[in-house]
Amino acid sequence: MDFFEFLNTAVTPYHTVSCLKSHFEANSFTNLSDKIETGKAYFVCRGASIIAFRTPKTWDDDSKFRIALAHTDFPTLKISPNPDGTSAGVNTLHTEVYGSPLYTSWLDRDLGYAGMLAYVDSDGSTLKTKLFRGEKLFRIPQLAVHLNRNVNQDGLKVNPQVDFNALWSGASESSALENEKNLFVKSLEKELPAGVRLVDFDVQLFDAQPANRGGFNDEWIYSGRLDNLSSCHAIAEAIVSAESAENDCLVACFFNNEEVGSTTREGAASNFLKSVLDSLIPNSELRTPNSLALSIDMAHAEHPNHTEKHEPNHAPLLGKGIVLKANAQKRYASDLMSSAQLRLLCEKAGIPLQVFIMRNDMPCGSTVGPTVSANLGIPTVDIGEPMLSMHSIREMMATSDHEDMIKLVKALYR
Ligand SMILES: [Zn+2]
Repeated sequence: MDFFEFLNTAVTPYHTVSCLKSHFEANSFTNLSDKIETGKAYFVCRGASIIAFRTPKTWDDDSKFRIALAHTDFPTLKISPNPDGTSAGVNTLHTEVYGSPLYTSWLDRDLGYAGMLAYVDSDGSTLKTKLFRGEKLFRIPQLAVHLNRNVNQDGLKVNPQVDFNALWSGASESSALENEKNLFVKSLEKELPAGVRLVDFDVQLFDAQPANRGGFNDEWIYSGRLDNLSSCHAIAEAIVSAESAENDCLVACFFNNEEVGSTTREGAASNFLKSVLDSLIPNSELRTPNSLALSIDMAHAEHPNHTEKHEPNHAPLLGKGIVLKANAQKRYASDLMSSAQLRLLCEKAGIPLQVFIMRNDMPCGSTVGPTVSANLGIPTVDIGEPMLSMHSIREMMATSDHEDMIKLVKALYR
């Protein structure tokens, strides 16, 4: 699966899962049904999450799970259920913040819109869904410097309630007069087959600029959604190219809703992974203490203009290899034995390893790692590719780190 094509296509978690599912199907993974055979590859979806796995050639007493985890979602602005407004001769869309985007980065960008639509057929009885991606571009303009005179001295302060109404069309005379309530919803109906009725929608905005190579030697990648499409891509590449192990089960998990805490039907805190493992082998929890999970999410590279923000000796550098993330307050799942196993894995595969810890005077982020590790008892190590501008609408990372990550997950599955 081409990385750039994936970055440009996976514009919502639904699209992420759709891309992954197609990739698995094209590589002989089958949709999970009742009968699970040894030495075969399967996948199963729940909402905008997907789990793929390769069963071992034989299950024996020492069989364990080798798992890689990532998340399919990213911070965004979601279109509200009743989004329509009119102001200054323009139709606006009210949005709701999802996760923790870097607010200022959403201003003055070309914004696409996409998501999932729920509809009923003409018989009105069966609910169906349709993945869609709008073809038009919207915008959230910032105030001109002339109307916000101290912005360069004071910094730009964004109030998400006031500033995140997206401009999507010029208001016609009649729509301005009637203050038309359902203009946008009506536009979504055009995405559906004729004769069906739209019932609900889950639509979000995204950065419409395609991913680019950057740097004088093309050593970097600039794109939206690198956190965490980069990790999804690395895991997908590794499990597709792997072969069934003799006795171990290889598992790849892609969870929605990490950016909002994971406690949803399809998030990492749900019973999704546990139910899959239980369907593979009775008493799956007996296998977990000897298993290993790599929780893969992006890591903060040292910012060249703000080295003071990083812990000395623990500031990962762009292009210098995989990052092991540790935290004494256990915001990361890494512990003594899982970290030690990772170090050995990197040594064996010849992959450079860097270590990240957060400064004591700054709070530390988290990942799906602690949740999965606590709920399933699987030794888990938090790792990632170093990046800059995390949670900006446009992020950056190094190509070589991504290659190292693919190599590492392949080594886990080998
Ligand atoms: Zn992330």
